[in-house]
Amino acid sequence: METLLKSVFLPCQNAKYGCTETVAFGKEPTHEKDCTFAEYCCCPVQYCNYAGSYIDLYLHYVSSNHMTVSEQIRDELCIGISCGIKMNISDKILIQRATFVQRATVERLLFAVQCFKEPFGVYVTVSCIAPSIQEVGPFSYRLIYTVDGQTIIYKSSEMKKIREVSLQTPQDNYMLIPHSLLCGESLEMRLCIKMLNIEHHS
Ligand SMILES: [Zn+2]
Ligand SMILES: [Zn+2]
Repeated sequence: METLLKSVFLPCQNAKYGCTETVAFGKEPTHEKDCTFAEYCCCPVQYCNYAGSYIDLYLHYVSSNHMTVSEQIRDELCIGISCGIKMNISDKILIQRATFVQRATVERLLFAVQCFKEPFGVYVTVSCIAPSIQEVGPFSYRLIYTVDGQTIIYKSSEMKKIREVSLQTPQDNYMLIPHSLLCGESLEMRLCIKMLNIEHHS
């Protein structure tokens, strides 16, 4: 049995990000520890197969024909400053570019604002498209939705970092807009992304 398992080769768990290595069964930790694709992210645009580091992904996104005209006009969001966002529920996803200064360098990132139509209402969640590394963030976000003088304010805990956009309804970290407070197909909100201040104890 042992010899049989040893001869089994599996694709690296980063295969969908472009790694072509195969790893012998039982040896995954050795390769995946220094796999160059471990921090790669997938382009959030449907039917685009691009994968790259989060820095390259940003450049890919702005230099490909991915942005709609309204998105090209819309400014990058500045971390800490709220901005208005508008999407249709049927769009399901809105990519928000953002710029910020972290450790004295200007960083640029893509954030995914996603909405999910569910029996109770519409769930809205924001994620950062980046690997889970110390160099990025951590962030939190605040969403404000107003309709007919009623306001829903959602303050997140730590924002999720995702290497690829998932179409699964989130289980946590979302704002719920009940159907009674929806106004047609359009969602107009204010979004503010903040850097979370984590105290470093050494
Ligand atoms: Zn690999
Ligand atoms: Zn792309």
